[in-house]
Amino acid sequence: MTFEHFNLHPDISAAIAAQGYTSPTPIQAQSIPHIVNGSDVLGLAQTGTGKTAAFALPLLHRLMTGPRRRVRALILAPTRELAVQIHESVTALGKNTKLHSSVIIGGVGMEPQVQAVRRGSEILVACPGRLLDHLSRKTIDLSGLETLVIDEADRMFDMGFLPDIRRIVRQLPMKRQNLLFSATMPDDIRRLSADMLRDAVTVQVDHTKPVETISHALYHVEQHLKTALLKELLRHTVTDSVLVFTRTKHRAKKLAEQLGLSGFSATSLQGNLSQSQRQHAIEGFRAGSYKILVATDIAARGIDVSAITHVINYDMPDTAESYTHRIGRTGRVSRTGEAFTFVTSEDTSMAYAIECALGAALEHKVLPGFDYTRPRPEGLFPAARQGGRGRSPQRHSMKTRGGRPRGAGARYGAGASAR
Ligand code: AMP
Repeated sequence: MTFEHFNLHPDISAAIAAQGYTSPTPIQAQSIPHIVNGSDVLGLAQTGTGKTAAFALPLLHRLMTGPRRRVRALILAPTRELAVQIHESVTALGKNTKLHSSVIIGGVGMEPQVQAVRRGSEILVACPGRLLDHLSRKTIDLSGLETLVIDEADRMFDMGFLPDIRRIVRQLPMKRQNLLFSATMPDDIRRLSADMLRDAVTVQVDHTKPVETISHALYHVEQHLKTALLKELLRHTVTDSVLVFTRTKHRAKKLAEQLGLSGFSATSLQGNLSQSQRQHAIEGFRAGSYKILVATDIAARGIDVSAITHVINYDMPDTAESYTHRIGRTGRVSRTGEAFTFVTSEDTSMAYAIECALGAALEHKVLPGFDYTRPRPEGLFPAARQGGRGRSPQRHSMKTRGGRPRGAGARYGAGASAR
């Protein structure tokens, strides 16, 4: 199938060609015709499947007819980075259309956003918190809204944004098209879509299985040897861009510093950074001036760096779904990628859960020549205090397993939140 099949406006078709897209991805093939027809769509697709263009292309196509210089489409995203990336995609795909997109995110001044919208934006890409601020000050008018897109709805839920979303939805015109994209379908998202979508078409692409172009390997290693093993692996593997996941922001920062001291080109992305520091880290990684980005799950959300060759789980993810989401960052579209996961003795049941979710046994690997028996240096904290699974006193005081508070009011990792 080619993009011509969809009969999109010629200005949009030209931009698709300029992006180098030759054929639609499965989520695009399935959803574009329905969105062009004005139907509500529930899209079950993870990052890396081409879902942004799946909603951006038909959205732009529909906006080619009808009034200009007023807000007609709203795209809600959980993080600032994702909002900026969606805005960049919409701008690239709409570059010949004279339609305008504005980003409404926290961490920057409100007034320039008001001015940008007043100059005439048909599309807003917004994080819920900052949009609500504008709505309460009446600095943004959504009375002419025709289409609402909610991207990464499950992440919105994880970050405690569902009440904000419902508050926003109540302020939108009743008659509108709704598109909701989510990698997973927790009950709250199912309820939100039942309340919000009308006669929706559901499109689904392999949402539990990661892209098949990725090879997975598990490395069994004790907590205190993880950094040494990581350095050895990096020395012995041909990598281009490497995304390393840690459990906490402190560990992300410390690990990036340790890698830097050993001569690796590494930076970290974690909640304690200012907006400009975050932008610097992401841009540096995207441009290749940093080869290694160490991040927490929450800080890494929405990073769209299509050339990531390796995802390394320095710390095991909390759930099998989170594993899928992390490694969805590599092997994007037709590229290939590798995912390495460090498994301590505390992580073996999670490693098994991941294998069950993927429906396949993963390769258990050993790096030749690496001394796995080196004892823990004297005076080091026990493993759990270094970020092992859920044993530290702080973790016991958290509300939920794995220390991840859920639901309303759970906006943790302030720098990564959307306000
Ligand atoms: P997404 O799932 O929206 O984050 O997209 C993942 C990556 O796939 C992005 O880098 C897109 O530019 C790219 N992409 C989207 N659609 C296509 C397509 N039809 N052909 C090739 N690459 C695409």
